[in-house]
Amino acid sequence: MGEDAKNLCLLGSTGSIGRTALRVIRAHPDRFRPLVLVARSRGDILLEQAREFKPKACVLTDQDAVIKYCGDFTALGVELLAEEDCLRFVVGLDEVDSVVCAMSGVAGLIPMESAIRAGKEILFANKEALVVGGEYIMRLVRDSGVRFVPIDSEHSAIYQCLLAGRRDEVSSITLTASGGPFLRSSPEQMSSVTKEQVMAHPTWEMGPEVTVNSATMMNKALEVIEAHFLFGLPPEKIRVVIHPQSIVHGLVEFTDGSVLAQLSPPDMALAVQYALTAPERLAGVVEALDLAAIGKLEFLEPDEQRFPLLRLSYEALGGEWWEPVALNAINETLVRAFLADEISFGALLKLIPDCFKRRNEITGEWSPSAKEPDCLDEILQADTAFRRFALSSVKGHGKRDIE
Ligand code: MG
Repeated sequence: MGEDAKNLCLLGSTGSIGRTALRVIRAHPDRFRPLVLVARSRGDILLEQAREFKPKACVLTDQDAVIKYCGDFTALGVELLAEEDCLRFVVGLDEVDSVVCAMSGVAGLIPMESAIRAGKEILFANKEALVVGGEYIMRLVRDSGVRFVPIDSEHSAIYQCLLAGRRDEVSSITLTASGGPFLRSSPEQMSSVTKEQVMAHPTWEMGPEVTVNSATMMNKALEVIEAHFLFGLPPEKIRVVIHPQSIVHGLVEFTDGSVLAQLSPPDMALAVQYALTAPERLAGVVEALDLAAIGKLEFLEPDEQRFPLLRLSYEALGGEWWEPVALNAINETLVRAFLADEISFGALLKLIPDCFKRRNEITGEWSPSAKEPDCLDEILQADTAFRRFALSSVKGHGKRDIE
């Protein structure tokens, strides 16, 4: 291992992005060293990773998993830490240079905030944390002066294309969307698909939540919000185009009419590696792009009838600060209910816009405020309130009621 290797804290090491990040690290052992590996409950995979990469410490945030695996980690001689609270501590360790935020969902927001406050470089794949943390997180990033680089493939593409001009020369950016498994299904067909059909994404291999979000187009809705905060662009300058081949990941149009795009095979390893080295480049871990073998690249306008959830992001961005928080909390709660077989896909497609439409009806200990939040607690309170709100709609619409 090289003396000047970059020491990484990998949040979400057993998930899809985490495993991809370790693939990149494995290819460049002299450049990157995984110092801390963090997972929720998959102790068996974490143990394998600890055996291979010999990190200084591992974290499991799920208590039952800690009890189950602590003996194995002791035998291996790797320290195992427990509980969500220690994430604030491990991201701030002196030896850590960069934090890879690859947890899924809003749970990643707290360690992300701590890492920025500790002055660490942030490589983030956790789009929900930015959707929810929004302007508050971007303000922290600016104030602390840390590098904040996206791993999400579309945002990585835009980040790379933006290097070709000044920010005031950008007239619009375009995120591509694969269209997911139901690109050619009618709204009627979509309401009665099975879970297996939802989970079979045509081009990308991803974790369960993002695979569902990809089928509903909510993934792209969240990415529009992510792009808004990350690049500081108004929603009207952020476009979405369907591109089933997932070869072109993002495009930037400059004021002179020139459009720059980033292309690569649909493999997250490239976006992870670029985030780790940007703006430098290393020899690729991804197979070369063969455009002639691909033959054709298609681009289509997203169909509003088929994918009505996409416009919710623009609605949320046109409203108060808490509206993206509401949209994400509603979506995350309902997607979990779908993955737990509590509601059907048809119910999911119906309940997300229904709940979001009723966002002003929220009652209880938290109420919408016009003032921008100046601490994380306020954001997390809004998040909790909208989760409860969404959960009550699941109870009112059991699987049988909808089918
Ligand atoms: Mg993406």
